[in-house]
Amino acid sequence: MTAVLGTGAHLHAPDFSDADLAELNRSFETAPASAVIEWAVDNFHPFMCMAASMTDAVLIDLAVKVEPSIEVVFIDTRYHFPETLATVEKVRRHYGLNLRVLTVPPQPVDLWKADPVNCCSMAKVEQLDRALHGKMAWMSGLRRAEAPTRATAPIVARDLRGLIKVNPIATWTDLDVSGYIADHDVPVNPLLEQGYPSIGCRPCTRPVADGDDPRSGRWAGSDKTECGLHL
Ligand code: SF4
Repeated sequence: MTAVLGTGAHLHAPDFSDADLAELNRSFETAPASAVIEWAVDNFHPFMCMAASMTDAVLIDLAVKVEPSIEVVFIDTRYHFPETLATVEKVRRHYGLNLRVLTVPPQPVDLWKADPVNCCSMAKVEQLDRALHGKMAWMSGLRRAEAPTRATAPIVARDLRGLIKVNPIATWTDLDVSGYIADHDVPVNPLLEQGYPSIGCRPCTRPVADGDDPRSGRWAGSDKTECGLHL
């Protein structure tokens, strides 16, 4: 099967072969993010959601302009900064968002300290699995410029569950993001202005110095670099 941009064809996730995804990635590499989102909405909505970290609302702003009822998922790990929780509420009100908050069950004390891999797995990945139940696809704001480990991230791929994972702003630079925020008055997490270019849970996120790897404040002092959501 050949999947072509703009055909309006309604394909189910399993219908996309690896060759289809490769062709789509080639097309999307130079396409605007809104075109990628339109393709995703055409093919998967309402069986698609978007995972939001609430660092900023750039992808949300782009997506609701294509489909206002798109489901946005925020995973409350119980360890978020108060600023992040306030941003969730601000963004929800700003866009009248179809927001789904999944809150993790209480965890054993200090699991994040003793076993962050398992903590992330329990807290985040398990909740994302819940959010994706019955879905064919999901979107995230993952970008290649965020970290060397993300430098080759595709725009569209099949995740480990077999669902289609769409990263509409994978090609965006930091400048693209800040320019879009300024041009469209997009709500942002106030921690961005306080030395936190990448914002996760409070115990596992440190501020970073200007010029440092933006994600170096995540799980600082350990080998861990990803929470596992984007696999
Ligand atoms: S980022 Fe830290 S606190 Fe949050 S789920 Fe992962 S290990 Fe737990």
